[in-house]
Amino acid sequence: MLWGPGTFPDFSFFRRRSCWLLAVLLFGKQHMSRLRLNICYETNMAENDTRYEESPDPKKPRLGKSLENDVIFNEFYSDPDLLTDLKIGIQAIQEWNDYSVCMLKIANCNGTGPYPFSRACCETERLKCEHRLLNNSKIVKKLSFASIFKYGEKVLTSYVKPKNESFLPQRKGARIAFAKLLHFLSYELEGAEKSLMSKKGVQESEWTVVLSHHLLSKLAVSALYKIDSGYKGRQYKCPCQCGEDFSGMYGDTSIGSPPVWHGNLDVMMDISVKFAEEEADSPGGYGNHSSDEVKLMDLKTSREQIIAQSIVFSFYQKRVNPDYANHLIPSIGISKEKIVVYFYDCINDVLLESSEMPYISADGAFVKPTIVALWLVLNFKYFCSGITKGIKELGFTSGFVQIVQEKLKYYNEVTAPCESRDDIKEDPWTWGVPPEKDEPAEKLDDFNKLGPWEKS
Ligand SMILES: [Zn+2]
Repeated sequence: MLWGPGTFPDFSFFRRRSCWLLAVLLFGKQHMSRLRLNICYETNMAENDTRYEESPDPKKPRLGKSLENDVIFNEFYSDPDLLTDLKIGIQAIQEWNDYSVCMLKIANCNGTGPYPFSRACCETERLKCEHRLLNNSKIVKKLSFASIFKYGEKVLTSYVKPKNESFLPQRKGARIAFAKLLHFLSYELEGAEKSLMSKKGVQESEWTVVLSHHLLSKLAVSALYKIDSGYKGRQYKCPCQCGEDFSGMYGDTSIGSPPVWHGNLDVMMDISVKFAEEEADSPGGYGNHSSDEVKLMDLKTSREQIIAQSIVFSFYQKRVNPDYANHLIPSIGISKEKIVVYFYDCINDVLLESSEMPYISADGAFVKPTIVALWLVLNFKYFCSGITKGIKELGFTSGFVQIVQEKLKYYNEVTAPCESRDDIKEDPWTWGVPPEKDEPAEKLDDFNKLGPWEKS
């Protein structure tokens, strides 16, 4: 067994590097063909791409077909390359530093005030613990991604076992979710890579649609997503060359409670999504940016906003889905290269932050372990096992509940859309009682003296 636990000496650095090396060796050939495809694709883009519009690939079944008689589970299992990718993904979420989470303590925040997410401040510190391997010096305490996705880890590890020991989830939602992951990795990954590469230089609103359409909705059991209707340049077809009908909708993505944190999410699914901010002076319009106009997008500048959204979103989920097994709810931030996940559990007041996970490499290939991690996050209601025993034993809390104690009732009342109690004051023009009639304070001469229409 190449990937079994304990195969490598217990030095995670060595183990990680070994995996990378092995992955490069294993995927070298596949990588080369992908690179060639990308080059072909870009050349064709310049010539009014027709290649992309070729008749649908008969070898590419629809998901529904794949699920019949467990076709996808058998097909995937019999492809050693795909299975190896999945095993590397499993190892990443179990052991790699790049796929870990830490605990956040809130030192200070303005969550007691009526602030929109865009003006949210939230100063945090990562919890540190003494580590015996480092002479008891204090380092940030990290937990593996799998530690909070025990149900998802079980689905993955049960499947990749030798055939006579391999199991599939019996619960319908988890089974569909798993089929979607395998289907994506088998049939949709390369198309999605091309779509994203072709739109890498465009502005945020268009990127948002392509990413939601080709990645997020393909991995989530519920493919529905709502994009903030405030986005410029609404489209009803995916703006990449696929020409597919846009599977999401535009709408009111506001959430929260006006006396405390509230505002619009970029994309609302089962989780909240925030796209990293573009530079403030980014020009408007769409579709006219060349690739050298790629705007810098940084997850760190959006960090406090994403944390505020995560906290509000967790309170919202607790209200609308009180029957969830646990309330550790993820929210994600996405830039053009990386994904970060924040988790907030509003019952235990625990806030977690993931590492920034690269999901797309410079040559446009998806980083498969991140796809596995993202898939767990998007389907958290089937796969997330909540806060860990270690967190509970530490008695760790983020301190948010204590900071906002006096305003906590507003967090327990969050709604989506966000109900503004100041509607009447803020927008009197569209509704309410008819306007009153009044007259000038001082009587004026009638300087428009009127007479009959026709002279008699
Ligand atoms: Zn598309």
